Amino acid sequence: MDFDLPPPHASFRDAVRELAQGVALPLAAEVDRDHRFPDEALKAAAEAGLMGVLIPRKYGGAGLDALAFTLCIDELAQACASTSVIVDVHTSVGSEPILLFGTDEQKRRWLPRLASGELLGAFALTEPAAGSDAASLKTSARRTGDGYVLNGTKVFITNIGRAGLYIVFARTGPEERAAGVSAFLVPADTPGVRVGQMFKKMGLNGSPTGELVLEDVMVPIVNRLAAEGQGFTVAMRALDSGRIGISGQALGIGQAAVDEATALLRGRSREQGDDFTLAEMATRLESARLLAYNAAWQCSTGRPFTRSASMSKLHCTDTTMQVALDALQLAGEEGAVSGSPFERHVRDAKALQIYEGSNQVQRIVIAREVIQ
Ligand SMILES: Cc1cc2nc3c(=O)[nH]c(=O)nc-3n(C[C@H](O)[C@H](O)[C@H](O)COP(=O)(O)OP(=O)(O)OC[C@H]3O[C@@H](n4cnc5c(N)ncnc54)[C@H](O)[C@@H]3O)c2cc1C
Repeated sequence: MDFDLPPPHASFRDAVRELAQGVALPLAAEVDRDHRFPDEALKAAAEAGLMGVLIPRKYGGAGLDALAFTLCIDELAQACASTSVIVDVHTSVGSEPILLFGTDEQKRRWLPRLASGELLGAFALTEPAAGSDAASLKTSARRTGDGYVLNGTKVFITNIGRAGLYIVFARTGPEERAAGVSAFLVPADTPGVRVGQMFKKMGLNGSPTGELVLEDVMVPIVNRLAAEGQGFTVAMRALDSGRIGISGQALGIGQAAVDEATALLRGRSREQGDDFTLAEMATRLESARLLAYNAAWQCSTGRPFTRSASMSKLHCTDTTMQVALDALQLAGEEGAVSGSPFERHVRDAKALQIYEGSNQVQRIVIAREVIQ
């Protein structure tokens, strides 16, 4: 058994690290403070080919695997968590479903523009009364002629307002719950699509989050992704690999917290209790990293990975929340000052325990997989 990263993955990680540390890190505090989109980091990521990590070369992407994706998001998150979530959502739940479920025509039409970064992708599943219980969603897609008319409101949509393409989940049939859901590719400039309320979050402030309002939006049948009634399958498969990306985000935020705590302790006289805390932080993060790499490896090698992705998401995000809190505690008043990286990591880490399936939902998924 070999725990070394394969050389191509190691050099890819090093290249992403250089970009992240050079471009995203210097912006991170300002992006957080001003709640502003990290345009410079996104431009650099697009130029470096990071917007199409999972997209095959024939569609203009880098054609890399889930492990490379995890490393990419981890490195970006070490520098700037907002940048990492924008790229993560675009790459996984915002683009990958087209690769996995799209027709040849849909792939040719959309993937090159997503891979180049010309279009930013987004995923619109959640509704005001359908979060963890996504199958209860109410947005409607009524069949008319050669298309559908969509009506409804999606909430908490990452990349809102910046996305050029939304993958929208809506109810097409009278069938109950998941069986009546279909998926649609909805360009942002379609008449009837608009941005509603924007949400001011406690963290990930550079990543825009808000409502997607759909009012009599005409979507041609060629923009339906997968068969009618298969939308929930699309969403759940997208979230499985999305959870590997969230693991990468967690590893990045956690690593930044460990590194900053280490630098702090090196520079001051310390108690043995400080060392114990740092040792716990580093050990927890190392165990989380192994779970994430295992989930990525299972996904990349075509094995079933629902269970490992959920375990990884749960463990990585819970670990990072604790690691970020421990780092702040070690820093004391310096860490508690608004604008310090320590308090930013705590605020950024929290959402990871909530989105792409809350950690309670991960426990439900894992128990189901273990018991089956
Ligand atoms: C920053 C951010 C970005 C997001 N981006 C997107 C996006 O791009 N696209 C998108 O579609 N959605 C997005 N979401 C929405 C996210 O997926 C939902 O917040 C998440 O699914 C939880 O739904 P909810 O917030 O409605 O909580 P609820 O479902 O109302 O749950 C509230 C609490 O109850 C718990 N709970 C719920 N059901 C159970 C159960 N059966 N057993 C035990 N506990 C339970 C939950 O874990 C949670 O703690 C985002 C959310 C955030 C915070």
